[in-house]
Amino acid sequence: MAKKKQYFEGAKKTEQGLEYNGFVLSPVIDKCDGCERAVWFEDERFCTSYPNPERKWAHGACNFATHVKASVDKGGQVKVNPIKASKRAARGK
Ligand code: SF4
Repeated sequence: MAKKKQYFEGAKKTEQGLEYNGFVLSPVIDKCDGCERAVWFEDERFCTSYPNPERKWAHGACNFATHVKASVDKGGQVKVNPIKASKRAARGK
């Protein structure tokens, strides 16, 4: 039987956040909804790629996100486009 990948093994919750491998992780934010890198640890979700999702999103879209893609339009505005489920499925092959 395939073993389910265990994220954040040995992590510990503290007042600052989730302590893991020498990092302190903050929970994911609303914009991370749908991203495959947001995984549950106890009753909160944390990002497996970035310790502070809120800061990651502060300047446009997160470049690690699996559910959206950011682009910059001619006016310099960051646009966030959802990645179509079909595209995501194709990429997972
Ligand atoms: S990769 Fe980006 S969008 Fe996905 S959970 Fe992490 S911070 Fe959020």
